Amino acid sequence: MSEGAQKKQEKPRKFQAIRGTRDLLPSETVLWNHVEQTAHAVFGTFGFGEIRVPIFESTDLFARSIGAETDVVSKEMYTFGGFAEFSERVRGGRMEGMLSEMQPEEMVSLRPEATASVCRAYIEHGMQQLPQPVKLYYMGPMFRRERPQKGRYRQFYQIGAEVLGGSDAPAIDAEVIEMVMTFFDRLELQGVQLDINSIGHSADNCRRGYVEKLKAALDKVKDKLGPDSQRRIETNPLRVLDSKVKDEQDIIATLPRIADHLCEECAAHYAAVKHELEMRGVFFRENWRLVRGLDYYMRTTFEITAQGLGSQNAVCGGGRYDGLVELLGGPPTKGIGFAIGEDRLILSLQESGKEVASGEWRVASKERKGVASGRLGVDVYVAWMGERAHATAIRAAKDLRKAGFSVELPPVEQKFGKALGQADKLGAKYALILGDNEVSEGLWTLKTLADGSQAKFTEPDLLEHLRRQKAL
Ligand code: AMP
Repeated sequence: MSEGAQKKQEKPRKFQAIRGTRDLLPSETVLWNHVEQTAHAVFGTFGFGEIRVPIFESTDLFARSIGAETDVVSKEMYTFGGFAEFSERVRGGRMEGMLSEMQPEEMVSLRPEATASVCRAYIEHGMQQLPQPVKLYYMGPMFRRERPQKGRYRQFYQIGAEVLGGSDAPAIDAEVIEMVMTFFDRLELQGVQLDINSIGHSADNCRRGYVEKLKAALDKVKDKLGPDSQRRIETNPLRVLDSKVKDEQDIIATLPRIADHLCEECAAHYAAVKHELEMRGVFFRENWRLVRGLDYYMRTTFEITAQGLGSQNAVCGGGRYDGLVELLGGPPTKGIGFAIGEDRLILSLQESGKEVASGEWRVASKERKGVASGRLGVDVYVAWMGERAHATAIRAAKDLRKAGFSVELPPVEQKFGKALGQADKLGAKYALILGDNEVSEGLWTLKTLADGSQAKFTEPDLLEHLRRQKAL
């Protein structure tokens, strides 16, 4: 077979989104934008400013902050770079005398989370010189090579916030939590459950002492635990408390609890955080099994779950991390923050049918037809016929868009019947009919598609009429 014939036979490859990644289509991005706008609005009222940090950073930044031995860093990061120039030159056969002059290029990773980047930026921009604390929030994609399933993706989105610097006053912890709860409340997220705990600080008279007692207790029941928990007794005993294995639950219930082993200061801080939450009317459940495996995490930890998510029901995780900025080369700095899983938040909203319920979600509900067609919220479909009407239609579309209306202007002439059919398919509210008569009279016909009624308007009257209708 000739090369040409072979090429003809080969079907072009059908590309698909990489496993664990997905497209968000217009029918969904309405809700995504609504969620993000609400975050901007709510976080703004709490005095938080938005920060945008890069999608990739030095691998070392994540290794240091998240911990080189964690699953996230050791198995799940997308890492690249290294000796790029080196390998290029080797391939080009230009080895001579270059090894001495070569600097290895730094390894970089796609960010698996953003707290480390925000702390890096705080240090890099000398934000400790600003009035403290500095309150920052972010939103955007994160990358972890996890096993994809419902609510777990390899590219997922987080909305998070950090409070850096200043004091570790319990009211700061409580206000950060109040802010997330206010955000969820504004979105009418259903089945929200806030769990809190204090994990003390990493001293002998506090968490370290507790972990020793925990380990001793775990050693005694080791044989009754599964292989994962057995391994964790050695690597990170606190993580055994995370276990979801059914047979282990009764055993875990008998283990020593951290609340009984907090030092005086940490116990007082925890009591004050709870009091501050109560004063803010924030309902919580104490969950002694809510822990973090890393040393710099301390005192307050919290997790929020919501309904409709199956096993991956955590929509937000957060906590205090007073040692992190220092660990990354900055001055000793207090810190607390959280990260919301935006994909899961949206999944939960969709499951509860929220997007078609109340007033705030009008865009999605009134325009359901439009949403299905992929055209969102078409206000006016301009049905035009004839060369003169074409020019008028272009001008009408420009003016209507300037006034904030969504306008669909067909690129080629259509018979009016067909145009109206198309307008209906797109879920448009109105058809603006422009033919020879309308143009010569200077009176434009507006058809309301819901009831089929028609009226004629001059251009200024038409704009006024549409404005008034929109305001209703
Ligand atoms: P973490 O940064 O691991 O504390 O996660 C904070 C939140 O991000 C979790 O509660 C989830 O809602 C969300 N999340 C973490 N990993 C994923 C993932 N692979 N896919 C979707 N959401 C995730």
